Amino acid sequence: MTQRPDPAPPTALAFDPSCRVWTGTSTPGAVAVPELVGRLDIDEASLSWAARDYGELVHHQPLAVLRPGDVGDISAILRFAADFSLPVVPRGQGHSLAGQAQAPGGIVVDMSGIDHVHEVTADHVVVGAGARWSQVLQATLPLGLTPPVLTDFIGLSVGGTLSVGGLGGTSHRYGAQTDNVLALQVVVADGSVLNCTAEERRELFDSVRANYGRGGIITCATLRLVPAPDIVRYRKLKCPSLNDFLRVQRQLVRGGHVDHIEGHIKLRENGQPSFEVETAAFTDAADAATALEGIDRGEAVQLPYRDFVNRLAEGDLIIGEMGIGQSTHPWCNVLLPDGAAKSFLASATADLHQELYGEFGLLLAYPLLTSKLTTPQMALPAGELIYLAAALRHAFADSPEVITSMTASNERWFNDATAANATLYAHPFIRA
Ligand SMILES: Cc1cc2nc3c(=O)[nH]c(=O)nc-3n(C[C@H](O)[C@H](O)[C@H](O)COP(=O)(O)OP(=O)(O)OC[C@H]3O[C@@H](n4cnc5c(N)ncnc54)[C@H](O)[C@@H]3O)c2cc1C
Repeated sequence: MTQRPDPAPPTALAFDPSCRVWTGTSTPGAVAVPELVGRLDIDEASLSWAARDYGELVHHQPLAVLRPGDVGDISAILRFAADFSLPVVPRGQGHSLAGQAQAPGGIVVDMSGIDHVHEVTADHVVVGAGARWSQVLQATLPLGLTPPVLTDFIGLSVGGTLSVGGLGGTSHRYGAQTDNVLALQVVVADGSVLNCTAEERRELFDSVRANYGRGGIITCATLRLVPAPDIVRYRKLKCPSLNDFLRVQRQLVRGGHVDHIEGHIKLRENGQPSFEVETAAFTDAADAATALEGIDRGEAVQLPYRDFVNRLAEGDLIIGEMGIGQSTHPWCNVLLPDGAAKSFLASATADLHQELYGEFGLLLAYPLLTSKLTTPQMALPAGELIYLAAALRHAFADSPEVITSMTASNERWFNDATAANATLYAHPFIRA
């Protein structure tokens, strides 16, 4: 995402409630901003930065950006903002697609500074919620440990993915990242700092996970750890058809041997779709389970686990180098009931053209077991097996007609998904 601006330190600030603007502390009727360890930025560069995200479809400027120096700053600003009904919205790494981390007319809390790794033990890590998953891994991998579930891109923040769920290739076995949290520290609307777990303040624990920042601001998380494999056997199983793609994924998930299972439907140079099931096995025995009738499984690539979990870094770099503001991402993610997966993905595959997906676009689809997804706020379709399906589109920001076609295609996704009793995942739907 966009580099965070670093403006000159602000002078003493106050809020004038009658005009709802920042002013000096000597203005009559103005209320001074509480003293902070960090800072409250109101310069144009900071406000524009906070009005952007990875989607680049929604842009709402806040009145200020808080760079908290500690958790006390977040409490103080929440209390201050409550007096003037200013919305306060946390922002992790800004990889939202529809403005979820923006605060129109309010205060964005830039969580990236709250990223300290406090403790790593044999079975858990305690980390500031603004830390990226890559920072968590930096602390745990030297001890041979990893969180059981990682998102495909590990540059997202802990608080950001715990606010949506956090799904990855091992979710068929371990559920979402929100199912692997042991404890949370949360700052609630009145500024109180509360700890919660499945046993203590269960209501808060349940209301803050996968609730898009609505239950409170997560400031610290205790995350479960499991042993990390040294080497991963990584394969792309080439499936002749969508039917085979779905058959192979179901077979692998139900077999329970393969550690990581995802799937990509891409456009080949000849204009035809390719169906690839992505697997990663942490042992030779698990890798043997990928030998399936009628499927070309090619050669396994042996990768250090560290490189495997960081496999998207290069792609993100390429997109980053194209320049911030040039890329727009009208993505759509849904969770489908198994019975609807075939017809939904057949129709999505028929729409898989460069005009609707861009040069780097693809369809992501993989199965999950609902018995493993236990986070109460995560809306799931009915059934034992469900599918995550995502339209990962890319457009240049200066092609408004392309963006409109992509958004209209998302609308078809939304309508088909709703008719199939699917649920939306991670992002609200934006109408064309
Ligand atoms: C390139 C890319 C790859 C992705 N891969 C995956 C994937 O593999 N699996 C998956 O499940 N999702 C994936 N996503 C979706 C991603 O999980 C969500 O968009 C996530 O919210 C982004 O995290 P962030 O740190 O950028 O959050 P932000 O965009 O900064 O914030 C997202 C939401 O979380 C809230 N929030 C942020 N921090 C906190 C906090 N500390 N406390 C409370 N609320 C908070 C915000 O207010 C906002 O509502 C991907 C997105 C992108 C762009």
